Amino acid sequence: MNFVRALINLKALKHNLSVLQAAAPKSKILAVIKGNAYGHGMVEVAQTLDNIYGLGVARINEAIMLRTRGITKDILLLEGFINPLDLSVLVFYNLQTVIHCSEQVDFLFKATLIKPLKIWLKLDIGMHRLGFRPEEFHAVLKRLIDCPNVEKPINILGHFNCADELENPITHQQITLFKKYISEDIGSVSLANSAGILAWPDSHLDIIRPGVALYGVSPFVGKTDKCQQLKPVMTLKSKLIAVRHHLKGESVGYGADWVAQSDCKVGVVAMGYGDGYPRMAPQGTPILINSRIVSLIGRVSMDMLTVDLGLNCTDKVGDDAILWGDGLSVNDVAKHIGTIGYELMTKLTPRVDLQYHD
Ligand SMILES: *Cc1c(COP(=O)(O)O)cnc(C)c1O
Repeated sequence: MNFVRALINLKALKHNLSVLQAAAPKSKILAVIKGNAYGHGMVEVAQTLDNIYGLGVARINEAIMLRTRGITKDILLLEGFINPLDLSVLVFYNLQTVIHCSEQVDFLFKATLIKPLKIWLKLDIGMHRLGFRPEEFHAVLKRLIDCPNVEKPINILGHFNCADELENPITHQQITLFKKYISEDIGSVSLANSAGILAWPDSHLDIIRPGVALYGVSPFVGKTDKCQQLKPVMTLKSKLIAVRHHLKGESVGYGADWVAQSDCKVGVVAMGYGDGYPRMAPQGTPILINSRIVSLIGRVSMDMLTVDLGLNCTDKVGDDAILWGDGLSVNDVAKHIGTIGYELMTKLTPRVDLQYHD
């Protein structure tokens, strides 16, 4: 049996959905499941989430995979499309799309579609990545209202770039800016990501778009009580495959980077960069073994990493090691590595078994 696995707690997923719904009781939920549902398995997550407005993915291939696996919920393409031929694919698979640039608008006018498309016009409120500038927004909206290939009314969305920074005043300004574009001739409006849902209630509006918080992970940088009720969905687990007595002065692993300062016990865990655990994880990165935090030592290799178990440990071959999840938040691990939980979860490789339980 493959003991290198990510346990996916679907009960925690449903719990987090209800926490987010309670935080924004008047809004409907577009559950963001791009990036293989942040590493949790897109189809299983899509099947589990009920009573939602729909699902958000980044790319067309993600949406098509959901449809071919029998998912009939509404799906929104958050990155939209760039190939005009994709427009009939969107109609065929009944997909909604974000419209963020004028090229897409031109394609919409030129296309021959059997049914108008449901679109979300993106307003650039400050990320400056995708979306129309405030000064060009009304003209684009007007153009699209005259486009027969576009379903009316047109919906609008925006996306925060700093909502995870609780003290940053820019988010409030962005909410105010966005709200100026809400009028009678538009349909639904959507602005809040996880950080918006949990920290900026003015941003909730018609549809909230939680991603990371659904998976029980805080979108915020520092400690905050805003995520207390969330439960981690993913627990990345493996096992000790060796426990070795190390003498003072002996090194471990490639490059002999780490050398024992005194006699100690070194645990070898079956987990490496071939599983998606980052090779850059430095010495001291926490790992949970038998309910205590131990430190990563030496270099992470493809299939293994090593930990300092302490001289008097009683850990043995076959004991579980938790890399993150229950008892060790992925954000704590990420902080040591210099990244965020989003990246760690999304980068697990197919060698890690996703095992679902309720
Ligand atoms: C990824 C994404 C989200 C979800 O963001 P989280 O920070 O994970 O909640 C929401 N909206 C858009 C447009 C996104 O790309």
